[in-house]
Amino acid sequence: MGDIAKEILIPYIPGDGIGPDIMSATVRVLDVAMRAATAGGVKLHWEEVLAGEKAFKKTGCWLPEETLSVIEQRGVAIKGPLTTPVGGGIRSLNVTIRQSLDLYASVRPARHYAGVPSPVKHPEKLNVVIFRENTEDVYKGIEWKRGSEEAKSLIAYLRSEFGVELGSDCGLGLKPISESATKRLVRSAMEYAVRKGRKVVTFVHKGNIMKHTEGAFREWGYELVRDEFSDHVVFESEMPQKDLASIPKGMIMVNDRIADNMLQQILTRPEEYSVLVAPNLNGDYLADACAAQVGGLGFAPGANIGDGVAVFEPVHGTAPKYAGRNIANPCALILSGSMMLEYLGYTNASSLVEKAVEGALAHGVMTRDFAKLAGLQSHVGTSEFADAVIDRMA
Ligand code: NAP
Repeated sequence: MGDIAKEILIPYIPGDGIGPDIMSATVRVLDVAMRAATAGGVKLHWEEVLAGEKAFKKTGCWLPEETLSVIEQRGVAIKGPLTTPVGGGIRSLNVTIRQSLDLYASVRPARHYAGVPSPVKHPEKLNVVIFRENTEDVYKGIEWKRGSEEAKSLIAYLRSEFGVELGSDCGLGLKPISESATKRLVRSAMEYAVRKGRKVVTFVHKGNIMKHTEGAFREWGYELVRDEFSDHVVFESEMPQKDLASIPKGMIMVNDRIADNMLQQILTRPEEYSVLVAPNLNGDYLADACAAQVGGLGFAPGANIGDGVAVFEPVHGTAPKYAGRNIANPCALILSGSMMLEYLGYTNASSLVEKAVEGALAHGVMTRDFAKLAGLQSHVGTSEFADAVIDRMA
């Protein structure tokens, strides 16, 4: 009897629009990477779970309960983009998945791959990982429409109880930021920085204006670091020379930046930053700005990580006009898959994938979107891009 390979169950959601095209490319790449990295000892066993249009057609439900319970049981999943149905009061399926599974850290790396066109002169200087809080802040969706009974009643309450005067034509929203959600996010960013030998962790906030939400985010961040990571860190505020060169060997410098300043410093001094930790709204802006700096959303992988469960997905959407045409760029999903392999502990397989993508791009193998931006005539299809990546792992 021959050896039986160990199997890892990976639930996957192909997604809508270009999702199935880029998912089949990604599955092929990840299978080959695992085979190469483990000499055939570990095999990925793909288990499709339903969500989005396919789920609705088959079950009448956009996000069946079973999908969430399978992901929770397996502790991991990879997904393509999902259409958010317009109208009908249906919430974003992506937000529902993140909130139902309490995937509190949105993790988005932004680094440049040689050959990828970028709007800046030195895109290679940016190499950051953004930890964005995924469950609260204004994204919690606690809002009331101008003139609604709730808005009127809240305006009256604020006037009578706190002497706050607001016009009756105001729409209102709440911005909850809690100590517990902040600290668990900061803990996961710090653990990542320690594990990966990252030199700088920066809290990004607008605490000068929003003292009890964004300002508290900063305070709780420092508190958590002091309580749990004091052996690993130096604080920029206590360093006489506040620069990278004076960080003691093996230590991490922790600092903070006001969000607007941060958005200009990632452009003017990108090499000074490494891990950025931000509340939900600022993190959203920052992640897209960083992605643009290194070539755009087509190269932006992502992960949504909670305690014991994580879902990996590209940042981009379903690009429906390219669906089923073997045109879409699969890089962001393939790189999300590489993050998933690392999360599962298969670091060799993960870096094989990343290096192979890097090699393909450096040799000018590009899908239509980036060939166009780079001013190149020749381009390959989704599936051929995957072939080129696979060739570099053989
Ligand atoms: P989008 O799908 O990201 O597409 C915007 C444009 O970017 C596309 O028209 C496309 O081409 C380009 N593009 C994006 N990804 C590409 C890829 N992999 N390869 C080649 N080109 C790519 O954004 P959208 O149009 O705003 O959203 C469409 C749907 O996706 C909506 O239903 C939205 O709710 C959903 N969405 C889902 C997620 C998610 O599942 N996490 C995220 C975002 C949006 P051109 O530049 O040539 O036009």
